[in-house]
Amino acid sequence: MAQAVAGPEIERLIQLLARLPGLGPRSARRAALHLIARREQLLGPLGEAMRVANERLLVCASCGNVDTSDPCTICRDAARDPSILVVVEGVPDLWALERSGAVKARYHVLGGILSALDGVRPEHLAVDAFVKRSSEPGVAEVILALSATVDGQTTAHYLTDLVRHLPVRVTRLAHGVPVGGELDYLDEGTLSAAIRQRTAF
Ligand code: ZN
Repeated sequence: MAQAVAGPEIERLIQLLARLPGLGPRSARRAALHLIARREQLLGPLGEAMRVANERLLVCASCGNVDTSDPCTICRDAARDPSILVVVEGVPDLWALERSGAVKARYHVLGGILSALDGVRPEHLAVDAFVKRSSEPGVAEVILALSATVDGQTTAHYLTDLVRHLPVRVTRLAHGVPVGGELDYLDEGTLSAAIRQRTAF
């Protein structure tokens, strides 16, 4: 093991930073030095922002989003289309869709996807709440924004069956060529999905 170059407090800061996604021990050390060099502008405000976020963190009882208020900012937004419910696996997917600005609707966070391998069954997910929310008056479309993996698609089929009796249209994301993607780099599965789901030009 490498010899510690700083006191335990700074070593702890580096160890915690190294647990962040995308940061290894080397980049964590660089990030720690960056914070220390900008103590006033960065280290102090970051510590304060993390403390406040940690104190006020809540899970929205309605959609499952993470925010500092319940209902969350999205659920309280009256400008959203209440007829569309977008179903996602987790909060990162919700935030990714929000960044895209593609749909101004409401969300439902499942909290995972069904997985025989990992032992994830319907009772581990917010499935009952999904059916309840899909049954609410005014909901006309459910968009299943789930991963294009075997587990993601199994979950999509399962959820579709649960709301088949309801007057809602169930849709899913298109599979195909990514924006900016070159055809000869794509795998056969993606290419054949793109051909099957071709749209009029
Ligand atoms: Zn919410």
